[in-house]
Amino acid sequence: MKKTSLTVKVLTGLVTGAIVGLLINLFAPGAFENLNTFLFVPLGQLFLSMISMLVVPLVLFSIILGTAGLGDPAKLGRIGFKTVTYFLVTTTIAIIIGLSLATIIKPGLAGDFDLGSASFESEEAPSVADTLLNIIPDNPLAAMTEGNMLQIIVFAVFIGLALTALGEKTKGIFNLIEQGNEVMMYLVGLVMKFAPYGTFGLIATAVGSQGFSAMKAMGSYMIVILAALFIHSVVTYGGTVAFLAKKNPIWFFKKFAPAMSVAFSTSSSNATLPVSMEVAQKDLGVPKSISSFVQPLGATINMDGTAIMQGVATIFIAQAFGIELTLVELATVVLTAVLASVGTAGVPGVGLIMLAMVLSSVGLPVEGIGLIIGIDRLLDMTRTAVNITGDAACAVYVAETEEKRLQKTEEVNA
Ligand code: ASP
Repeated sequence: MKKTSLTVKVLTGLVTGAIVGLLINLFAPGAFENLNTFLFVPLGQLFLSMISMLVVPLVLFSIILGTAGLGDPAKLGRIGFKTVTYFLVTTTIAIIIGLSLATIIKPGLAGDFDLGSASFESEEAPSVADTLLNIIPDNPLAAMTEGNMLQIIVFAVFIGLALTALGEKTKGIFNLIEQGNEVMMYLVGLVMKFAPYGTFGLIATAVGSQGFSAMKAMGSYMIVILAALFIHSVVTYGGTVAFLAKKNPIWFFKKFAPAMSVAFSTSSSNATLPVSMEVAQKDLGVPKSISSFVQPLGATINMDGTAIMQGVATIFIAQAFGIELTLVELATVVLTAVLASVGTAGVPGVGLIMLAMVLSSVGLPVEGIGLIIGIDRLLDMTRTAVNITGDAACAVYVAETEEKRLQKTEEVNA
C-alpha cells in the first residue's frame, strides 16, 4: 500500500512537472526564468544533491558486504562472469536494434538539415582502454572524492574478499560496515519522500527550457530512438524476466517504475543507484549480496539505452551527410558502441561525448553531433531509465539462477 503510493506520488510529480513545464514553454515563456530559478531548480537540485550524497558510501558499503556475503571467491567469479556476459550481450542486442530501426526508417533523410552550420567541439572522451587499465585505484580516497565508480567497486571487492578471508578476526569491521549500510538505506528511504517534489522540479526545468521547434525537425530521429528503447525494454528485459528469471514482466516493470521515474528525471544512472538498489532489494526480492554487486557495476558499465542512441545517431548522421556505411563499418560501430557504453559514466550527457568515438571509428564527421545536441536532453532522460532497467533485469536474472543452484546443491546434499 505504502509502496504503491510512493510510485503514484513520484509519477504524479513527473507528469505534473512535464505539464507545467510544457504549458509555461508554450504560453508563458517570459515567466519561465523566474519560476525556474526560484522554484524548479531549487526543488530539483535539492533532491539531486541529497540522493547523490548517498551514492559513494552506499556503493562502498554495499559492495563490501555483497562480496563478503557471497562467501567464496569462486561464487563471486561466477556471478561476475554471468553479469558481465549479460551486460555485453544485451548491449550488443540494443545497438543492433538501434542500427536496424534507423536503417529501415531512415531518419537522416527525413528533412533538410543545416549541415554547414553543424558544429561540435568534441570534449576529450576518456579512452576505454584507460578506463579499464585504471580500474585499480592508486588512492582509494581519491577515487571516492572523485566518484570514480569502477575504482570504488574494485577497492570494495578487495576489502570484501579480505573480510571473508579473515572471518571472525574482523567481525567488528564487518558489523560496522553492515550498520553503515543500514544507515545509508534508511536515508535513501527518507530522501525518497522528497522524490515527488524533486522529480517535479527536474522535469519542469527540462521541459520548460526545451526548444520545441528544434524538436519538430528532429521528430523522426527521436521517434526511432524512442521506438528502439521501447522494443529493447519489452523484448530484451521483458524476455529476461519472463524466460530467464521465470517471473512476470508486468510485475517487474510495475515495481521498478519509481526507480525509472527517478532515472528519467535525473538523467543519471549513478544518482539513481540508491533508489534502484532499494527497489530491487525490497520490491523485486533480489538478495542484497547480488543487488549490491550487479547494480553498481551495471550503473557504471551497462548502458543499453545509450548504445541505442549511439547506433541511431550514427546512422542518422551518415544519412544526413549522404555517407553509405559498409557491413564491416556497421560491425565496427557495434563494437565501438559496446565499448563506448562500458566507458560512459552514469551521469547526464556523457553518452553524447562518447558518440564522438563511435563516429570517428568509421570516419563519420564528428560535427554531426551538432545536429542532435539540441534535443538530446529529453532523450538522455529516456535512455537513462532504460540503462538502469537493464541492470535491474540482470539482477533479477542472476538472483533466480543463483537460487536454483542453491536448491540443486541442497537436493544433492540431502
Ligand atoms: N545519462 C546516461 C546515464 O547516466 C548516460 C548517457 O547516455 O549520457 O545513464
